[in-house]
Amino acid sequence: MNKVKPHGRKNGASRPRPSLGTAEDVKVGDRIVVTIKRIGINGEGVGYYKRKAAFIDGALPEEVVKATVTKVESSFLTAKLVGIEKKSPDRVKPPCPVYESCGGCQLQHMSYPAQLRAKEEIVRESFSRYAKLTELPLRPILGMEDPWGYRNKSQLQVGREGDRVITGLYSPGTHKLVDIAGCAVQHPVINQVTGQVRDILIELNIPIYHERSRQGVVRTIVARVGRQSGEVQVTLITAADRIPQQQELVKRIRVNLPMVTTIAQNINKADSPLIFGEKTVLLWGKERLDEMLGEVRFSLSPRAFFQLNPEQTVKLYDAVSEAAALTGEELVVDAYCGSGTIGLWLAPQAHEVRGVELIPEAVDDARRNARDSGADNARFYVGRAEKLLPEWVRSGIRPDVVVVDPPRTGCERPLLDAVITAQPERLVYVSCNPSTLAKDCKVLLDGGFRLEWIQPVDMFPQTSHVECCALLTRK
Ligand code: SAH
Repeated sequence: MNKVKPHGRKNGASRPRPSLGTAEDVKVGDRIVVTIKRIGINGEGVGYYKRKAAFIDGALPEEVVKATVTKVESSFLTAKLVGIEKKSPDRVKPPCPVYESCGGCQLQHMSYPAQLRAKEEIVRESFSRYAKLTELPLRPILGMEDPWGYRNKSQLQVGREGDRVITGLYSPGTHKLVDIAGCAVQHPVINQVTGQVRDILIELNIPIYHERSRQGVVRTIVARVGRQSGEVQVTLITAADRIPQQQELVKRIRVNLPMVTTIAQNINKADSPLIFGEKTVLLWGKERLDEMLGEVRFSLSPRAFFQLNPEQTVKLYDAVSEAAALTGEELVVDAYCGSGTIGLWLAPQAHEVRGVELIPEAVDDARRNARDSGADNARFYVGRAEKLLPEWVRSGIRPDVVVVDPPRTGCERPLLDAVITAQPERLVYVSCNPSTLAKDCKVLLDGGFRLEWIQPVDMFPQTSHVECCALLTRK
């Protein structure tokens, strides 16, 4: 799983600030009792203690919990759960044995229906806080029938635990690798392939990279499955140019794992948290993995970004289509287009699609995907959305529909301003962060748009993430 970004609030120093107030002030180390009101954006329980918000990992709404204060700020505190005095009926036993240490999931201790309710609440709370909207046109969240085994890709570090070679993730804020060989949110074939590749590395005595000494070869096993094709792409990230026993390695992977159609090597000698390096070499098989979303074809090179939960992506993009309400006449701008997925989804119903994306390789992929899908009305441009869109608008281009799907930080202000100037009929905002969605909506509402509806989609069950598609129209 991807690591959830450590949140500043949780990982800051746990030193108390110099006390400004009275002796009653709460201090680090104090034992407190808190009634939990809701789930916060990082999956923590949120309650109040002496008028400060209290953030407590692992606590659930309606629970009364005992906790030890770990950090005190002027408006909030964080505390560590030590006991539950009143337990929520939504509390379940987390099925994953390494749930606590891995950090990839945040809500496994909550039943799935309760997770879905909590995510709707997170969206409501964000809009009430950042857009001052209390009457929200929020549609019921679209969940999964089976909220497990959904991820189509894993990137696991290879390392040692005693004499054992394991594959896993670093526990948040540590250098301790947690073995997640059987991760329950991964597609089962991904676990199978990663496990077998690890075993073959052991059998052939191929040196595993050691983080501290910077010796060894194999750092990471990346496996990605095409849900429609059943094909699996394996990429070994290495710290050296050559893999010892490479031919034998390829042969054993092919014999043991017939679903593998690509074996690639990516070289990353840098001491950085980025997984992929610049250079990728095909060791055997097809250069790209075939995948489909609905009717749209994709061929994915090892580094290409692709949605991690294709089943839910189709639900999200159906909401995008509904919001865009295309008739075949429209010019659509797909800002932050990545490898063009949303633009290509919409292209058959549009007159023209213009995608903008910062990363040149992703734009290459978008162009190739457009060719493979026969979308000759889609053009893709490398650049910053907040720079290109204003330029287009200044040169008289007037999109009818603008779709934005920005990173967690939301849209840059110049982009929002350009949208307000361009006055498209419809703005479709796809967001993976309800806080920045709400803040940006506030700007757009003040700029003359109206919020028609918000459709949350559960792309990442068991985690606290929630994706939304919001439709704004010109007033
Ligand atoms: N819409 C795509 C990808 C969304 S992820 C999909 O559904 O698959 C957000 C994308 O925005 C990433 O590909 C990132 O590289 C790109 N990006 C980030 N900042 C950008 C900017 N300022 N202008 C254009 N693209 C940007």
